[in-house]
Amino acid sequence: MSQQKDQTSPISMRDNPDCAYHQLDVQRYYEASLEIKNNRHHLDDAAEALEELEHNASVELFQKQVDLLKKRLVNDPQFFQQTFITEGTNAIAWEFQQDELGEAFTRTLWKLLCNNDDMSTLLMRFLWNVPLKFKRKFIRALDAYLSDRYPMFEGLSEGWPGANNIPPYIRPPSERAQDFDLVNQGYIGYMGLGYSFREVELLVWLEVLRDKQCDDKPCELGHLPKMDGGENEGGCPVKIHIPEMIHLMGEGKFKQAFQLIKEANPLPNVTGRVCPQEIQCQGVCTLNQRPIEIGQLEWYLPQSEKFLNPEANTEIGDYVNPWAKADKPPIAVVGSGPAGIINAYLLSKEGYPVTVFEAFHELGGVLRYGIPEFRLPNELIDDVVMKIKQMGGKFVTNFIVGKTATLESLKRAGFWKVFVGTGAGLPRFMNVPGEHMNGILSANEFLTRVNLMKAHLEDYETPLPEVKDKQVIVIGGGNTAMDAARTAKRLGGHVTIVYRRTQDAMPVRVEELHHALEEGIELKVLRAPREFIGSDKTHFVTHTNLDVMELGEADASGRRRPVPTGGIEVMKVDLVIMALGNASNPIVKDSEPGLKTSKWGTIEIKAGSQETSIDDVYTGGDANRGGSTAIRAAGDGQAAAREIAGNIPFSVDEIRSLVAGAERYTEQGQSPKKILRRIDLAEGIVEFEINAPLIAGSARAGQFVRVLGWDKGELIPLTLADWDADKGTIDLVVQNLGSSSAYINRMQEGEAIAGIAGPLGLPSQLHRYESGGTVVFTAGGVGLPPVYPIMREHLRMGNHVTLISGFRTRDLMFWDKPDGRVGLLQAQYPDLLDVIYTTNDGSFGINGFVTAPLEEMLEAMKAGSGRAISEVVTIGPPLMMRAVSDLTKRYGVKAVASLNSIMVDATGMCGACMVPVTLDGKMVRKHACIDGPELDAHLIDWDKFLPRFLQFRKQEEANKVRHGFA
Ligand code: FAD
Repeated sequence: MSQQKDQTSPISMRDNPDCAYHQLDVQRYYEASLEIKNNRHHLDDAAEALEELEHNASVELFQKQVDLLKKRLVNDPQFFQQTFITEGTNAIAWEFQQDELGEAFTRTLWKLLCNNDDMSTLLMRFLWNVPLKFKRKFIRALDAYLSDRYPMFEGLSEGWPGANNIPPYIRPPSERAQDFDLVNQGYIGYMGLGYSFREVELLVWLEVLRDKQCDDKPCELGHLPKMDGGENEGGCPVKIHIPEMIHLMGEGKFKQAFQLIKEANPLPNVTGRVCPQEIQCQGVCTLNQRPIEIGQLEWYLPQSEKFLNPEANTEIGDYVNPWAKADKPPIAVVGSGPAGIINAYLLSKEGYPVTVFEAFHELGGVLRYGIPEFRLPNELIDDVVMKIKQMGGKFVTNFIVGKTATLESLKRAGFWKVFVGTGAGLPRFMNVPGEHMNGILSANEFLTRVNLMKAHLEDYETPLPEVKDKQVIVIGGGNTAMDAARTAKRLGGHVTIVYRRTQDAMPVRVEELHHALEEGIELKVLRAPREFIGSDKTHFVTHTNLDVMELGEADASGRRRPVPTGGIEVMKVDLVIMALGNASNPIVKDSEPGLKTSKWGTIEIKAGSQETSIDDVYTGGDANRGGSTAIRAAGDGQAAAREIAGNIPFSVDEIRSLVAGAERYTEQGQSPKKILRRIDLAEGIVEFEINAPLIAGSARAGQFVRVLGWDKGELIPLTLADWDADKGTIDLVVQNLGSSSAYINRMQEGEAIAGIAGPLGLPSQLHRYESGGTVVFTAGGVGLPPVYPIMREHLRMGNHVTLISGFRTRDLMFWDKPDGRVGLLQAQYPDLLDVIYTTNDGSFGINGFVTAPLEEMLEAMKAGSGRAISEVVTIGPPLMMRAVSDLTKRYGVKAVASLNSIMVDATGMCGACMVPVTLDGKMVRKHACIDGPELDAHLIDWDKFLPRFLQFRKQEEANKVRHGFA
């Protein structure tokens, strides 16, 4: 045995006073055996020595003891283990009582720890339980002797445990600012530097070793609130048993720690990464200089499990399909953000048949479309979704509650209870002059274009504003601002964050701000845009005048209010991203008169419950709190799941019937949007009949749908030309204009459109005009299909209708024959419907634009010779609508324009479809998707609105060339 080994072995018998045999003899015997075993050179000598020693008393005694030990091991392994522990820990304890740990001992100890066996677990437990001064000694030894292999140990002992620790692995700023790969790679990121999994586990354990094992558990419970009735300050919103988790990790029981955390929080891999730990668990850590990296520990556990067993995420145990079992009534979850997804997960686990209804075509809510992949990989959301599916949970995407169906209709379909986790997705704007200009957009829109629609990738269709080498400013100081700024940086922009207060008042997670600044993003504090100025030619923003601010008196939130000093700073900008927080989306509220909401539009809940003012409808997350955090949303989803899983008031047969109904409904929602019929109407214009039963069941005249043509396509609005609720079909007319419509235009019967959501927007406001006046429709080209159902409704109501349908040329006309839709209406309502056709080239009907016959009618009405005009509805090319608006304004006739403008989500979440409208002499923003699509044409500021149609012209041209459509 080598000298070194003898000196350092922590379980050496050298120091054992009970050792009755002569140790040197035993050692020689052991070495001789080894010589033979290893077939070394002096085989003969070794064999001779062995023979001689075998009869030596010491060796005989030793052999006897070994035999005895073996017997004991077989008969009583517990005893053996205990002996081993006692022996080993005694030896280590002896070493730890020396002034400092020796180098060889330290190296051996580390090596043993690295072995990842029973012995190493014992050692971990031993070190976890020794007093702090011994732990310090251990860290000093690591620092002194192992920093060559572990540079993170160098200097670690200075200020350890309170002021020093091993941080997780963060990719260097220069490298990470170029791509969308994960920035904070956690402790497991050290594997990328060549450390083994076990070594990484030990780094995590060293972090755990800093724990002071506080009795009052502030990290879990927080501090009592200063005011009665308030929430605890700090602590964990979902009450993860943090001290117990740390204790288990300290003893090397990582699996048990993961098990424990999972019971409280099914999303530790997400919340560990995005929670604002500095104001929650870590904010109240008694190691206040450098709190324990609780968030990092939280996500290390699932991540390491995933590393060790990549299939683990698909293992959910034995679950019987709850739809087939049908012993619990079905639950509907609306929205798939953290609130909804946790709710669905927990209820599926309890054996409820659950369907999640999500407005977008992808799942995860803000976690997917808001938070970028460099902060939160999408695969983590996919993991949870997969688990829910395996437990029988179902998902219906492109389903907008409040539009596709009401909460009431979900209940009627068979869902017993509903959880509403719709978030707070309506972006706020500043309402300052110039905000309508091209190049100014919400962070929601910008992030959705990149994160959800992958606009920055070549083979995806969604256009993205130009960012590379542009001056980009992001306005705001929260997580959304940071995500937008860091995304713009990665796309090559020169990015500045503009914030109206000071840096320390920014509501962002500290880590995100730190990372953003490290990546080269500038920060301008105490500045707020007063106005935006742009080019009259391009209508793109060119610079902004910033108010210079100072902090005044504290406001209601206790923070000092920023007030303008009167100073102005001019800043050049090419792209402005507004990250000012989100308000509540009114879609659900507007469709449910019985749903009580606060003055901010958030859904109210009963005291001590997650239940809303509607029985069996629950809510939580941002829908109830306004903009909050992922963990609070998750906590609410969890609390609601507990409430929902209450006493079931149904008989077995009733439950079966509810399950059958809800399953049928879910299947209808999931059914592919297959093209059942394709009719070529005219050159480049196609009519499709598409399977979409739930949309058909709710559609009303004037509404539109949001279409995703193919997986990598863009989301475009298309107006409903018709629908048949009994057949479950909708009709769309698509003209080959941009590259997306050209792509869809080529699709054939039997093919399926990737996603259709709707019906969206407000239905037309229809009036019965008793006076006999006519409702005039001016339809330009494919403005005719959206006009058709509105016009039909007016006819059904008994109103007189004049259709002025304009086309560029005869060849582009459709539905005009006796068996066409217009022809059939004429036959059905011969006294109520007049039709006038115009063509720009005079090839059919009146030569010219739709405005020519309209003007004639207006003149006749003025002269008292023609029919009175009750209102004019105009749908078609923007310039035509503007002309109709100007004309009718001159004659004082009401005009409504239906705006099919640029949209991304089409439910109010992006703000892209902004329409500048003048109300009481003030410009206000309206959004075509939620306030429209029909708006009072005379209130629209057409000069400001029209250029918005051209903002992505360059990108669209490039897409056409790419697809060979140019
Ligand atoms: P959401 O995540 O908003 O999910 C709501 C879901 O409902 C969406 O999928 C939406 O499409 C869907 N939906 C909406 N209306 C309907 C409808 N009518 N029918 C069907 N479905 C509907 N929090 C943190 O803790 N840490 C962070 O670092 C952090 N960063 C953020 C970064 C950004 C860019 C943003 C925008 C927010 C961030 N937040 C962060 C806040 C956090 O993401 C939210 O508090 C959290 O996602 C709220 O969860 P939720 O489930 O209530 O709603």
